[in-house]
Amino acid sequence: MSSLDDFSDILKVDEPLADYTWLKVGGPAQYLADPQSVEQLQSLVTRCHELDVPVRLLGGGSNLLVRDDGVSGVVIQLSAPCFSEISLEGTVVTASGGALLSNLISESVKAGLGGLEVLTGIPGTVGGALHGNAGGRGGDIGPLVKSVIVLTAKGEIFTRKEDELSFEYRKSSVNELVVLKAEFELQEVDTDELTQRIRKLWITKRSTQPLSHQSAGCIFKNPRGLSAGALIEQAGLKGTQVGGAEISDRHANFIVTNEKATADDVLRLIELIQTKVSDRFGVDLETEINIW
Ligand SMILES: Cc1cc2nc3c(=O)[nH]c(=O)nc-3n(C[C@H](O)[C@H](O)[C@H](O)COP(=O)(O)OP(=O)(O)OC[C@H]3O[C@@H](n4cnc5c(N)ncnc54)[C@H](O)[C@@H]3O)c2cc1C
Repeated sequence: MSSLDDFSDILKVDEPLADYTWLKVGGPAQYLADPQSVEQLQSLVTRCHELDVPVRLLGGGSNLLVRDDGVSGVVIQLSAPCFSEISLEGTVVTASGGALLSNLISESVKAGLGGLEVLTGIPGTVGGALHGNAGGRGGDIGPLVKSVIVLTAKGEIFTRKEDELSFEYRKSSVNELVVLKAEFELQEVDTDELTQRIRKLWITKRSTQPLSHQSAGCIFKNPRGLSAGALIEQAGLKGTQVGGAEISDRHANFIVTNEKATADDVLRLIELIQTKVSDRFGVDLETEINIW
């Protein structure tokens, strides 16, 4: 892969990815890239396309399981400051794809803009949230999006406007390689009222989710009209362990890992849950986490 030599100052070779993910398991990336500008990111992606090198985008790693063998090709992270910008104009907030969702929420709330606070407590980045249409009981990120600037796997940059965007439960039409920037249309709301809403959301999250453990949020999507967590619990699986991976006793749709866990433990536990729930209820659970 000599033609990636031009990028050697932003590439780490055989970089372990476990610490970049919330589950803290999994193997290395053949190359981990940390581009310092949009132009550098674009030329790296274009070069990888020409060389037929696989490229993946890493956000906050909060919805990601990396296999123990690791991944070949280039994994890109957006940690440079230019990928974390947030700006406000009237009721429109613009955020770069690598910005933390929590920062986007707090900047909006400080400015008295409501809408995004329903995403309180969801870790990760703006790009990751758009990729999977992150959300919860209060609503999802999708309906707040006005436009998105994306970079394709071929290295092209273009803007997708409202009528070219569609969002469903944990699914988004924003499936290009990189979300560079997104605009959100929010509403003016009293800051005290927003703070109250956020407080309530945090209380609910803390009481229902194992936030102090290593996890990747919900492992499975809820089947239509059903709760994946309730099915797993009714199948008697809460607390089941495979190696260092365990079904949380606080929320059955969360797998938590300890320091000895491997990605294989998590994968075997996922398979075990799918088999038991299918045998017991005839329901096929589909994973919500991204598996590399
Ligand atoms: C404790 C906990 C609680 C959670 N609660 C919720 C919840 O209530 N609701 C919910 O929906 N999710 C929840 N999650 C899951 C997770 O936080 C979200 O899915 C989050 O949006 C993932 O963002 P990320 O940046 O961490 O993405 P990553 O995990 O890094 O990546 C996930 C996918 O997004 C892609 N991606 C990341 N950044 C970009 C980008 N800039 N451009 C294009 N693609 C990109 C990646 O390639 C990958 O395919 C929770 C997770 C944890 C650990």
